[in-house]
Amino acid sequence: MKKTNISCLALLSLSLTACSPMPKECAETWEKMESFAKSMGISDEQQVPCPKCNAANQPGAKFCHSCGAQMVVPQAACPKCNAANPAGAKFCHSCGANLQASSCTKCNAQLAPGAKFCPECGAQQG
Ligand SMILES: [Zn+2]
Ligand SMILES: [Zn+2]
Ligand SMILES: [Zn+2]
Repeated sequence: MKKTNISCLALLSLSLTACSPMPKECAETWEKMESFAKSMGISDEQQVPCPKCNAANQPGAKFCHSCGAQMVVPQAACPKCNAANPAGAKFCHSCGANLQASSCTKCNAQLAPGAKFCPECGAQQG
């Protein structure tokens, strides 16, 4: 009887000393992590940081609620592999195709990005 009582008490005190500081520390670290994530513009809702002022915006927001900057970066689809590239990109990040619209070297007609032959005169390009 006595032996079990002692071991029970020892176990209880042991578990108390081992456990009691842990949850508080855990909660503090978690709070720190959460505020850190918030300061970084990251939260459970996967908010999108503004490219200009870095303020956290709702996903899908078109304009920053803080500075009014345009949130959605216009993208250009690659004519070859259809990968989304940032507007103004010269080459596809996926397949390396030329994304810049050019003009025919012979007749100066407007060419589709990545076109190898002129649609007007049929001259081979570049
Ligand atoms: Zn902004
Ligand atoms: Zn491509
Ligand atoms: Zn041409």
